[in-house]
Amino acid sequence: MEEIYLSPNTLNLYTQCKRCFYLTVKYKIKRPRGPVSTLPSSIDYLIKDYFEYYRRINKLPPFLENIISGKLITHLDKTLYYRFTLRDKKVVIAGKLDECIVLEDGKYVPLDHKTRGKSPTMEQVHPSYQLQMEIYSLLLKENNYPTKDIAYLIYYFPELVSDYTAKEMSGIINFGFKVIELKLDILRAKRIINEAVECLEKEEIPESSPDCEYCRWHNAVNNQIENIRNKERFEKREVPAFKDGKLFE
Ligand code: SF4
Repeated sequence: MEEIYLSPNTLNLYTQCKRCFYLTVKYKIKRPRGPVSTLPSSIDYLIKDYFEYYRRINKLPPFLENIISGKLITHLDKTLYYRFTLRDKKVVIAGKLDECIVLEDGKYVPLDHKTRGKSPTMEQVHPSYQLQMEIYSLLLKENNYPTKDIAYLIYYFPELVSDYTAKEMSGIINFGFKVIELKLDILRAKRIINEAVECLEKEEIPESSPDCEYCRWHNAVNNQIENIRNKERFEKREVPAFKDGKLFE
């Protein structure tokens, strides 16, 4: 039986562009990426290390003490899986939680570290984080952790230092933080998983998203090349030339 692997990333891709999702999951053809800054992943690494220290001593990091009530999960699995069969397909949902809080009532709540240029408002939370956290909560639930329909995002952002005299080779920039509690809708996440599998079952490649600049660029390049070729062939009197569907002057 065929297996379909999905993750919060690929499911978010499905909500953004069905064609890219289809090509990525079914044919491993991924959208090209530009240079990526390693700064967010380095900050992420340091923060996770800091949380590991508090996990070992079974305490919540002090900066969260008056904001979140609970403690860090005692053991954080590297990857959580949820395996099930949908129609004739074996589906595997996989996700790597940054962190998990155990509330005082014994419920497990996923937590993710995010870096950003500025402190965000609730409206500025990227929509893809909503589905990411819903999938994490679903993974916890399916791995027998009782859950609550909430998740935490901690945003870390650079702040000005007030004491400029301390501005030496290190310690130039301080980081502020903000905790945002998201309300989750697990049924929505399940619906998206179902639709995404359905999309992969189809033979035809779905339409591309009209909002994405990559395919717009690709189509514009193809059209331009076609116009240039038509013009060349017209000049050699091989065929009548067309530009944008009209006869070329
Ligand atoms: S529009 Fe094209 S490049 Fe953009 S996300 Fe969709 S398939 Fe990928």
